[in-house]
Amino acid sequence: MRLLLVEDDRELAEALAAALARRGMSSDHAATADDALLMLGAARYSAVVLDLGLPDADGLDVLRTLRSRQDPVPVVILTARGDTAARIGGLDHGADDYLAKPFDVEELVARLRAVLRRQGGFAGAELTVGNVRFDSVARELTVEGRGVTLSARELELVDLLLKRPGRVVVKALIEDQLFGLSETLGSNAVEVYVHRLRRKLEQAGASVVIETIRGVGYMLRAAA
Ligand code: CA
Repeated sequence: MRLLLVEDDRELAEALAAALARRGMSSDHAATADDALLMLGAARYSAVVLDLGLPDADGLDVLRTLRSRQDPVPVVILTARGDTAARIGGLDHGADDYLAKPFDVEELVARLRAVLRRQGGFAGAELTVGNVRFDSVARELTVEGRGVTLSARELELVDLLLKRPGRVVVKALIEDQLFGLSETLGSNAVEVYVHRLRRKLEQAGASVVIETIRGVGYMLRAAA
């Protein structure tokens, strides 16, 4: 699950990114409408947090362009304009929710979860393979009912693999979902996270294995 934060207030964007990361949600950041549209064209995001007051355009223009591209990505609008007209305007243009500044980060996280849950692809949020269960909306992994503590990227990785049990997940997709567009990656970056996840699953007594499909990617399946 990767989010795009479109917000020109750098401090707010950084605080949001940090708060989301603590809950296992990774994000990219765009400070202008132009950047936002480029990034939305280049990568697939689970949801967008969109500020309306951007330096180069109105956030509603970004939303309009997105919807005219038939992009259904969920959008939560953030704005200082707390009045009813702006609120209705945003929802009329295809926003999924609306939050007036100043807002509580917990509330934004709760709304993002609700928006993601309403999406078709996230309807079945509970993924189970062997004795491993993952709630992809609450971002909680349990092995036989006991919680396993994972970092944001480990959560992202387990989410990708558990959604495709018995199928190969190509390395490029994992790189795309685990790391931001701005990050330079070492060639073994993905291996490092797979190794850590394997170790944690093993320590927790999980009845699943993550196989390496050399030169292609990784596959999670129930242990024989
Ligand atoms: Ca702004």
